[in-house]
Amino acid sequence: MDGKVLDNDITKVVEADRAHVWHHLIQHAPWTGPDPKADPRIIVEGRGMRVWDQKGKEHIDAVSGGVWTVNVGYGRERIANAVRDQLIQLPYFAGSTGSIPGALFSEKLISKMPGMSRVYYTNSGSEANEKAFKMVRQIAHKRYGGKKHKILYRDRDYHGTTITTLSAGGQSERGAQYGPYTPGFVSVPHCLEYRAQWDLSGEEYGLAAANAIEEVILREGPDTVGAICLEPVTAGGGVIVPPEGYWPRVQEICRKYDILLHIDEVVCGLGRTGTWFGYQHYGIEPDFVTMAKGVASGYAAIACCVTNEKVFELFRDDMTDPMNYFRDISTFGGCTAGPAAALENMAIIEEENLLDNTVAMGEYMLDQLKALQDKHEVIGQVRGKGLFLGAELVSDRSTKEPVDEKLAQAVVGDCNAQGVIIGVTNRSIPGFNNTLCYSPALIATKDDIDQIVEATDKALTKVFG
Ligand code: PLP
Repeated sequence: MDGKVLDNDITKVVEADRAHVWHHLIQHAPWTGPDPKADPRIIVEGRGMRVWDQKGKEHIDAVSGGVWTVNVGYGRERIANAVRDQLIQLPYFAGSTGSIPGALFSEKLISKMPGMSRVYYTNSGSEANEKAFKMVRQIAHKRYGGKKHKILYRDRDYHGTTITTLSAGGQSERGAQYGPYTPGFVSVPHCLEYRAQWDLSGEEYGLAAANAIEEVILREGPDTVGAICLEPVTAGGGVIVPPEGYWPRVQEICRKYDILLHIDEVVCGLGRTGTWFGYQHYGIEPDFVTMAKGVASGYAAIACCVTNEKVFELFRDDMTDPMNYFRDISTFGGCTAGPAAALENMAIIEEENLLDNTVAMGEYMLDQLKALQDKHEVIGQVRGKGLFLGAELVSDRSTKEPVDEKLAQAVVGDCNAQGVIIGVTNRSIPGFNNTLCYSPALIATKDDIDQIVEATDKALTKVFG
């Protein structure tokens, strides 16, 4: 562990975890975790792309902290120092009051988002999305007598874990058993050409997938639809990059029917795909952009709902109306650690040219994974953008039958045993199971990528022969 000695008695830590921590996203067997005999994994330390667990075992982290978050890697003392200095100066003040890092980070962020102008601070990606939904609803009430209140979301996309964001969620496993849901959310078809819904390809496929949105709008009534919320590259739904032709048509449809375009950049934001934001690959002009994970690379909790001036103006167009403002607050939106960390995070991305590295290493990793696909029949498709990549596993390439999810888990487990942490996207979504998921920090080198791909190669050979 880099020569460092643990301060805590790790046996006690493991006991405390076993006894009291309710872990996220896992079925708890009699103790915690899928294997009752195994210890829970506790990550103790991180440096760069690597983390060490409670047994001192080194892992290369190919998923940036488990869920696409630690974009600039571990051990960034300058972020820690900036947060420390800020906490000593002023940790917190909320309500309608501002803070120095809040103002400076918003200015810096907006400088990378032409066309956008206002930053609303929140705590999590789910909450940032709910803020946008609330704004859409309030605009509907102010402008359209409450009628233009429906919000469209896409099958396979995920926008968060609260009941309302689950109501806007296209992943059945996540939402099941948490109803009744918030009304007014309507799904549109996904756009993964690999699992084609139309007998078309390339740009024509993209246009068909976008036109399917228009059909839903016409079915629901354009005067009832206020916004559409989309991931630029779908993350947990299977790392889905929309086909050519999709985004310009989506933008056109939004303009035609006066529908606000909300892009959920919770995963793609702050460099993951090689541009500051995923939507910037496609030349579209959103009305809302929400972001969370990479904003401060997990060094502090911060999320934002960013709007353009058109949206902001709608909340101050009638100063004689005392209700005419966004009547919302986020207690921890007043924490200064978040924007202080986020400012340093952006400075690191700029100074170390991490966007360029993400493009170059993303292309390299895509090629390496494609070479694995040539070798392993079980890889049906490799896809992704920047350092955000997926390899979908199928038991038969011609039918695209997904492999048994236990086998996909076995691949992840074997990589883990080799000291490489990779992910697998939502397991129980019919037809979308089992996409191995890679999102290393934006500092990844060819050597790091080779290690990750080699471990996957060995794991695939072991599990599938
Ligand atoms: N949006 C997307 C695309 C996500 O992937 C996630 C979380 O994984 C969220 C929103 C929710 O973010 P949070 O977990 O911070 O609430």
